[in-house]
Amino acid sequence: MADHYEVLGVARDASPEEIKKAYRRLARQLHPDVNPGEDASEQFKLVTHAYDVLSDPDQRQRYDLGGDSGAFGGAGAGFGGFSDIFETFFGGGGGGTRAGRPRSRRERGQDALVRVDLTLGDVVFGVHRDIEVDTAVLCETCQGSCCQPGTQPVTCDICHGSGQIQRTVRSLLGNVVTSQPCTTCQGYGTTIPYPCSTCQGQGRVRARRTVSIDIPAGVETGLRLQLPGSGEVGPAGGPNGDLYLEVTVAPHDVFSRDGDDLLATLEVSMIDAILGTSVTIDSLDGPVDLEIRQGVQAGDEVTIRGRGITPLRGEQRGDLRVAVQVVTPSHLDPKSRALVQELAKRTRPAPPHLAEFHPGLFSKLRGKFKR
Ligand code: ZN
Repeated sequence: MADHYEVLGVARDASPEEIKKAYRRLARQLHPDVNPGEDASEQFKLVTHAYDVLSDPDQRQRYDLGGDSGAFGGAGAGFGGFSDIFETFFGGGGGGTRAGRPRSRRERGQDALVRVDLTLGDVVFGVHRDIEVDTAVLCETCQGSCCQPGTQPVTCDICHGSGQIQRTVRSLLGNVVTSQPCTTCQGYGTTIPYPCSTCQGQGRVRARRTVSIDIPAGVETGLRLQLPGSGEVGPAGGPNGDLYLEVTVAPHDVFSRDGDDLLATLEVSMIDAILGTSVTIDSLDGPVDLEIRQGVQAGDEVTIRGRGITPLRGEQRGDLRVAVQVVTPSHLDPKSRALVQELAKRTRPAPPHLAEFHPGLFSKLRGKFKR
């Protein structure tokens, strides 16, 4: 079996640093990815095993005393060496126990939040919107590689691709190895000699993009709709973030919402309330005919089925509920007054009297006082 020191080409009293350096140099020549030949592969195994033994102070001492385990050739040894070389040569890939992997330039894009103003009509029927968003899109020139076309990133000379710089600090407890991101490559393990001039090496560019979305019926203020993958593209062409649309529904002059129902008030004159009438109202669906029954009372509700809101998860539309408000004339000309007095004589209406408490009327009064 070849002598480990000879295999690595170092002196018997070589320092750990020298052994590591020699190993890296050889690994770079002999790694199967770089040098696919059969001989190189055998050599690579020898070099890796030699390094495994000599890089471990205990094993090295045993080897120096003539007690090499001689286990070379076992699958375990070969495999261990392989993962080890990935860590030192490619800077990661194995368990990542020795040093951190170099970080990737590719990262997921950020999520974005856009506010959308809707009318109540939009909520009733759902609405299609084209929304302009300021975002980042993939750089067409480099397709996210960050490099000028025809060029590539190169392995960082300083950290040799690991993205980390190890420093050995002497302390009372012995040597402590700390690793920090390489400042030359910012921890990427590679540098970009010719950054793409379109995106300044970011792999993405600022852009205003139009997002088309069908906003479903039934949404309400504060609701957030998630559009997965519609956010900005990540650095170096990383996956897109998500886009969130936060809905604000403007108050309507006439209609207000109660769950899936729409509410409105219909003012009916005292005369129409007495005699009954028919009326055409402008609902959000267009004109709707309403029958006001003879003798309708203030606070009575007229329900128009299926003219409310389609719920967010469902198909059955709510109702349009119209509350009748009877309007008493505050001024009558003398002739009208005489007619009403005549009516009073004929019908002898019950005099005013206390009746059961009616909360609905009070809430209406409250509404009036607020104005
Ligand atoms: Zn670019």
